[in-house]
Amino acid sequence: MKQLYSRFNLSNKEIKDIERVKRRYPMKVNSYYLSLIKEKNDPIWKQCIPSIEELNDTVNEEDPLHEESHTPVPFLVHRYPDRALFLVSNKCAMYCRFCTRKRKVGRQVDITKEHLLNAMNYIKDHKEIRDVIVSGGDPLMLKDSLLEFILKKLRAIEHVEIIRIGTRVPCSLPTRVTKHLCNILKRYHPLYMNLHFEHPLEITPESSRACKMLAEAGIPLGNQCIVLKGVNDSPEVMKELFHRLLKIRVKPYYMYQADQVKGTDHFRTSVQEGMDIIENLTGFTSGLCIPQYIIDSYGGGKIPVLPDYVQYKNREKIILKNFEGKIIEYTNPRIKTEKTEKDALKIAVVFNLKKFPEKDIPDDFYAEFDEITVPQAIKQALEKQGHYAELVEADEDFYEKMKAGNYDFVFNIAEGLHGESRESQIPAILEMLKIPYTGSGILTQAVTLDKKRTKEILLYHGIATPKYQLFAHWNQKIDSNLSFPLIVKPNAEGSSKGIKNNSLVFNEEELKERVRTVIKDYKQPALAEEFLEGREFTVGIIGNNPPRVLPIVEITFDYLPEGIQKFDSYEVKWYWDNPNNPIDPIVCPAKITRDLERKIKNTALKAYAALGCVDLCRMDLRLDNRGTPNVIDVNALPGLMPDPKENSRFPKSCFTAGMSYDEIINTVFNEAVKRNGLATAVKKVQLNANSSNI
Ligand SMILES: *Cc1c(COP(=O)(O)O)cnc(C)c1O
Ligand code: SF4
Repeated sequence: MKQLYSRFNLSNKEIKDIERVKRRYPMKVNSYYLSLIKEKNDPIWKQCIPSIEELNDTVNEEDPLHEESHTPVPFLVHRYPDRALFLVSNKCAMYCRFCTRKRKVGRQVDITKEHLLNAMNYIKDHKEIRDVIVSGGDPLMLKDSLLEFILKKLRAIEHVEIIRIGTRVPCSLPTRVTKHLCNILKRYHPLYMNLHFEHPLEITPESSRACKMLAEAGIPLGNQCIVLKGVNDSPEVMKELFHRLLKIRVKPYYMYQADQVKGTDHFRTSVQEGMDIIENLTGFTSGLCIPQYIIDSYGGGKIPVLPDYVQYKNREKIILKNFEGKIIEYTNPRIKTEKTEKDALKIAVVFNLKKFPEKDIPDDFYAEFDEITVPQAIKQALEKQGHYAELVEADEDFYEKMKAGNYDFVFNIAEGLHGESRESQIPAILEMLKIPYTGSGILTQAVTLDKKRTKEILLYHGIATPKYQLFAHWNQKIDSNLSFPLIVKPNAEGSSKGIKNNSLVFNEEELKERVRTVIKDYKQPALAEEFLEGREFTVGIIGNNPPRVLPIVEITFDYLPEGIQKFDSYEVKWYWDNPNNPIDPIVCPAKITRDLERKIKNTALKAYAALGCVDLCRMDLRLDNRGTPNVIDVNALPGLMPDPKENSRFPKSCFTAGMSYDEIINTVFNEAVKRNGLATAVKKVQLNANSSNI
């Protein structure tokens, strides 16, 4: 140590820092590796000399790969089906500052012969293990005789086809590779070795000689490195390292993304940087010197990561980008399907996938998006009817995917991405490409997402809906015709988004407060409407010519505890989802008189027609104090959750009518197919009729 300190003229503070880190994470370097350092903080230094940053790491875990959970017997990790990692030593020629097993090296209890035999018995008992990776620590730190003992035992196990040794010794202590050692190793072929070089400076006459001896003993040599910030995190350094390795007969095997190990955060780089390295090599130099880039993930094991060469693919073709950025198209051989009936269609099921909300957006932001299980269930239902279906996410590449996909039809459950008329986006793109789809069209989707416009149309057609006022600003003058309590909603959101317990306001002050919050959180005007005290119903409508009203659903609120308002709010949904709630708040069919049932159905059908809905729709209605059903919300894209336990209301109503989930999907689909061809004409007729009224 003294030697190091004086050679680089370290200050007292620098020496103190090193000593401090050493107490937490041991340090070990030999004089050979030290001699490779050219100057303070160079790539060699960084790998072996403690840095105070090791103690500043607050983000990472001690054992990020949770290797312990795949350890059936001590010192053996059985993570993959046909291979096992056998940790035979906990010593290394040096302690790399970035080591994944940082918590273990240099401090673990000794590995006894007992342990070794025990692990080898496990291997013997598990016939599926055909590849044993002898690792550590560093197995070459064992005495020749012990190493030979292990190799001999492993070789005697019939199902162990190959033995691999993972070692950093040829790089960090090349004199350990002796003639005697090579003579032992070559008796246990097929034996492979994975070495560990991180930087071109490590390829010296000494390490080259060690690799030459191993190669001449007939051992195929590979290299595993880690992308390390400040050491090798550039395409130039990596390329030089890989070229030099090939010259000493070592094939680059894996290039790892750094694990999230406590004490090593200062070495970590972004995944993009790793992909850039690979992209800068691929095509520009031989494939021989390009390793696979790997993220070793907790839970998922090793996962290869490639730059985005595949731009798009479907069953027929794949669109690729070559190393010069040129776009290349490749066409698959034609697949013969059993479905030869001429009316089998190729359908895209189009959806938006639910994501976790990011910071700074309301927790119900993605409430309307779907779990993957929904489009999957729809696809299954369509395929059972003899069609061919693919899942297509309605993301920003949607247009390209549709254009390339050759679809005959779309089953649309996508909500669109941004903006006040987002539910129209998918219909608009599809009409542009002349691809027919299920559900309502551009205008209806835009109108029904806008509560104020919907109400205007309903009122025009004489359909009851609560009195309302739209607030573009919280301080707007309040319409004197309105009477409290009022319910405040974002003007252009799906059914219950932004509707919370405190959305019900009883005076001006509360109203202003709530309006202000809605405008701020949802970045759109707030709609305040009179709150109706009566019963609440949901009505599903399916089909056209004529549309069919499904059994009516009643939403009950009587069981709610004091303080939770009796309407369909976020809190109420939360309360329902609570498995301890013994009451089913959704009653279907609703217990109502014939007369009320007739009134509700008529209102719903009138609204369906007035708004131009097709194929399917879900409507919420409430009774006012005269018992008249008022339309409070229209949803042209009702949720289609397949699981009855989800209490998704449109399916619930269909189930009550005796339909299965597959029947719901295929009814909607068949209605859309029947309608197709007429749809454009019908819409034109409606528009003409409307404009002549004005
Ligand atoms: C890396 C690793 C292996 C070997 O993986 P290969 O892809 O075959 O090189 C085996 N077991 C464990 C636990 C590993 O981490
Ligand atoms: S030689 Fe390998 S196991 Fe040993 S400290 Fe270095 S990286 Fe870790």
